[in-house]
Amino acid sequence: MQNITVLSGGMGGARFLQGLLHGIATGRLPGVAPDATVTVVANTADDLWVHGLKVCPDLDTVMYTLGDGIDTGRGWGRRAETWSVKEELAIYGVEPTWFGLGDRDIATHLVRTQMLEAGYPLSEVTTALCRRWLDPVYGDRVRLLPMTDDRVETHVAIADPDSPSGRRVVHFQEYWVRLRASVPAEMLVFVGLDEASPGPGVVDAITDADLVVLPPSNPVVSVGTILGVPRMREALAATRAPVVGLSPIVGGTHVRGMAEQMLTSIGVEVSASGVGLHYGARSAGGVLDGWLVDEVDADQADRVEAAGLPCRAVPLMMTDPDATAAMAAAAIDLVAR
Ligand code: GDP
Ligand code: CA
Repeated sequence: MQNITVLSGGMGGARFLQGLLHGIATGRLPGVAPDATVTVVANTADDLWVHGLKVCPDLDTVMYTLGDGIDTGRGWGRRAETWSVKEELAIYGVEPTWFGLGDRDIATHLVRTQMLEAGYPLSEVTTALCRRWLDPVYGDRVRLLPMTDDRVETHVAIADPDSPSGRRVVHFQEYWVRLRASVPAEMLVFVGLDEASPGPGVVDAITDADLVVLPPSNPVVSVGTILGVPRMREALAATRAPVVGLSPIVGGTHVRGMAEQMLTSIGVEVSASGVGLHYGARSAGGVLDGWLVDEVDADQADRVEAAGLPCRAVPLMMTDPDATAAMAAAAIDLVAR
């Protein structure tokens, strides 16, 4: 196996990728070449413009995590970060005060915004940023591709008794960062998704892969939006590569984040089997050839298999790169036999 493609969100996807790359480097993945390439197709539907800067949270989380620049405690943003700009903006009373941009992180957004304004597409900007973060570590063995170069934004409708419609629509980041996903998401709107085109290399990365992985990323606002880019589902249906997924839901809720709220909002049962069945078996018009659930959800495997989707229960907690590499190995073992 030479080419592995991973459809990734931010934190969950980045952690999985770390373990996958660790597994490749230590020769622990069955049938995977030691010089295998990993192509990351990352969600960009969380992106936002803030203080005049284009911020791409999931691209940056993957880039900083794999490039060893991430703040591991927070799981996002730069290590050894300082917050002078944020403090100064707060004194000016400039909104939004709830979205924290660290000083080091701002440099990334300045480079990105300048390049975008000079006319470069996001994919080329991302390649340029990765020259600093990924190339020194992985050479050309890891590629980070935005799912699309087009603007796509996830918006969330929440109840608002003060509004005439009884509802208010906020950007996904406001729902998550300011409101901490503490109120029900009544509806999700993926602005621009239906009109988006896959970014350069994205469809080929699926068509030419030897393995496609849906990591334990958010099934709605990370993997769901990637799958929602036109032509993505067709590419997954057509690829000769096996497609395997790992559940982000363990014991009936997300491990961290807000997958529970997002699944509830689209009417999908919040369980490991519920998410597997939501993705569906490729043999039945879905996207997966195999689905891993955590050991605590072992009793749900039969239900998944009954729908024609091979399923196995293994430990799915990404506690460290060794444990995560073992998850990747189990995923490969499930579909590549
Ligand atoms: P985000 O964009 O930063 O929200 O990150 P992702 O969408 O890539 O991943 C978020 C998902 O990762 C959440 O739904 C979590 O449940 C899941 N997750 C985080 N840590 C773990 C873990 O250790 N094991 C599993 N199975 N899922 C995890
Ligand atoms: Ca995200």
